[in-house]
Amino acid sequence: MKRLIIILISLVPMLLSAKGDKDTRLIVITIDGLRWQEVFAGADESLMSNEKEVRDAETLRRLYWRHTPLGRRIALMPFVWNTIAKQGTIIGNRNLGSMMQVANKTNISYPGYSEMMTGMVDDAITGNDPVANPHRNVLEAANEDLRYKGSVVMYGSWKSARYAIRNEQAHIPACVSYEQTFAKNKTPRLQLAERMLAGMPRYWRSEHFDAFTYAFALETLMADHPKVMWISFGDCDEWAHARKYDFYLDAANATDAFIRDIYEACEADKFYQGKTTYLITCDHGRGDGAEWGSHGSKVKGSEATWVMLFGKGINPLGETIENGPFYTKQVAATIANILDIEFKPESGEELAPF
Ligand SMILES: [Zn+2]
Repeated sequence: MKRLIIILISLVPMLLSAKGDKDTRLIVITIDGLRWQEVFAGADESLMSNEKEVRDAETLRRLYWRHTPLGRRIALMPFVWNTIAKQGTIIGNRNLGSMMQVANKTNISYPGYSEMMTGMVDDAITGNDPVANPHRNVLEAANEDLRYKGSVVMYGSWKSARYAIRNEQAHIPACVSYEQTFAKNKTPRLQLAERMLAGMPRYWRSEHFDAFTYAFALETLMADHPKVMWISFGDCDEWAHARKYDFYLDAANATDAFIRDIYEACEADKFYQGKTTYLITCDHGRGDGAEWGSHGSKVKGSEATWVMLFGKGINPLGETIENGPFYTKQVAATIANILDIEFKPESGEELAPF
């Protein structure tokens, strides 16, 4: 049975051909540092019961503990497992031999986003500082194509994310970390969200809470109708570094609901309905057991990533098994394929889309 499925996967491309289709929209969503372990198996029992890292173990168990990994992952991310897994394709469940990882050796965020968007690894990129990426990226290429020009935008929580796509040089409107939005139509809801963010305590210095990224992105999608948007969420990574497993699980659960809302709003809007592909991925993994909060070149397992694709043009393969290794740098080729644009990474290495 397993063998049959492997053959099927190797013969059928995961993405249906969308070549020549001039009416595509794309929403890329990244969830910073959300581990494959929680995505595919839900809450971890030993981490949930560590009284130093959770405030109220009983409530946490009621919310996220179920007797099987399949039950736990649905409790944690119901939209992913009830909808995306049925309509789309998911890669990266290492328990089932589906392997995906970053190709860069740092296992940290900026190099991860750089790899994802430029389709290559530059070994000189090793830090998280907010400096413009020296390399051309696939969103920049989309913004130079007449079909998408002026219609590629980005919202993020973490300050350095927009530098990874050198948004100023690439003329991609972007808003991160306590910045005001770039929206053309500043609707009353958007103005309210901006006002609320301005009044929030700056709990993290270079990152605002994902709830604002969500509100800005959703409102801009509905009011401005950009064709391509990258939404970069960050709460999971921050709470993991703080070693607050309860907040980390709540952030994963909230992000799942944000994605559901965005999907439902888009599919109820004529501009996006039936024309939109959704790609969701992460920039790096994290350690195991006691090292769950950390990531980096010295943290074993933190190279592990995952990806989900659904919506227009995506084969409903569900959760794939016994495949890979896939690399995060293939995201760039996948975006180019979805948008039907030419994109060659500066490294010269051409990669296959997923
Ligand atoms: Zn981190």
